[in-house]
Amino acid sequence: MSLPAPADQLRHFQKRRKEIVETVRQLVELESPSDIKQSVDRVSTVLASRFGELGGKIKFHPSEKFGKHLQIDFRPRGDRAKPVLLLGHMDTVYPIGTISKMPCRVSTGRIWGPGVLDMKAGIALGFHAIEAILAWNDGKLPRPMTLLLVSEEEVGSTSSRPITEHLAREASAVLVLEPAYGLHGAVKTARKGVGEYTLQVTGVAAHSGLDFEKGQSAVIELAHQILEISRMPASQTGVTLNVGKISGGTRTNVVPPSATASIDVRISSVKDIATVDALLKGLTRVNPRCSISVTGKINRPPLERSEAVATLYGKARQIAGDLGWDLEEAAVGGGSDGNFTAALRVPTLDGLGAVGEGAHAEHESVVIEELPRRAALLAGLILTA
Ligand SMILES: [Zn+2]
Repeated sequence: MSLPAPADQLRHFQKRRKEIVETVRQLVELESPSDIKQSVDRVSTVLASRFGELGGKIKFHPSEKFGKHLQIDFRPRGDRAKPVLLLGHMDTVYPIGTISKMPCRVSTGRIWGPGVLDMKAGIALGFHAIEAILAWNDGKLPRPMTLLLVSEEEVGSTSSRPITEHLAREASAVLVLEPAYGLHGAVKTARKGVGEYTLQVTGVAAHSGLDFEKGQSAVIELAHQILEISRMPASQTGVTLNVGKISGGTRTNVVPPSATASIDVRISSVKDIATVDALLKGLTRVNPRCSISVTGKINRPPLERSEAVATLYGKARQIAGDLGWDLEEAAVGGGSDGNFTAALRVPTLDGLGAVGEGAHAEHESVVIEELPRRAALLAGLILTA
């Protein structure tokens, strides 16, 4: 195989900028909130047909509650090498109808729209990177590759996680199409692990005027517990606990019989999983006549900057260097499906998608100028990772 020189690869994508933008637009205009199965299914079907045209072997993984996950394989005949796994998601956080308030538009050098950065543009980059490699190599991929696009990443990836983990175990490396970090376009070499816990307090109801003494306030007990949680060892160890939502009580004239808190937990290191779990589950009641229970777990292990991650970043940096730019790295708080694959010790590099701003927000947008070199970086990694 004789690939074009890096500068020519970049030029290839610069010439195809319009097509890339069109693919992004096509995907953004197909709204796909995680909880509307038929909408995500439609994106899955459209993508299956586009990747099918490139010669990919399509496999749908049906899910009862969510859209069908889409697996696309490119397996050159007789090639026994480990495939590289490209990982992305088709769902967004925006409800149906958002597109009419936040239409997909191109202006000021950006593409705007719901889910454009996270991560419709990432999928488009994957598509055009593969398309280019095929064009450079007589219609064949020079190595095995699998692309997995899941349907419910934004709501925790419960149904796709086993598929992601299974494919990752077979892969030489995992390239995650989540957005890059910041406008410099850093890749993500560390991500925090994420967990969600629920603290449930049960007290004793009573009339606040007639029987106040007989009541045991679940709200007061919850307040004690929240302060206890706020004193738990935090940021300096990379652990944060956020009591993000509380509820309790029935009416103002009733001593509250129940109260609940939802807690978001972030950790930087795998060894903190057990510690934080023990701390939360070890909470003890202050009022002996109330009872408390804690449920929940760490759903995504942290993506740690292991040797394998650092080596893969080094490779990416080299490719970017050949294309004439210095690829930065960053550690971030949010989790992705890359957390699952890194925890299996498979070399994982995240943030290989588009560069932009405003994920999950009204000003969500992608910088068009950055698309060609992101596609070139991705193509380089598909060939060598
Ligand atoms: Zn995402």
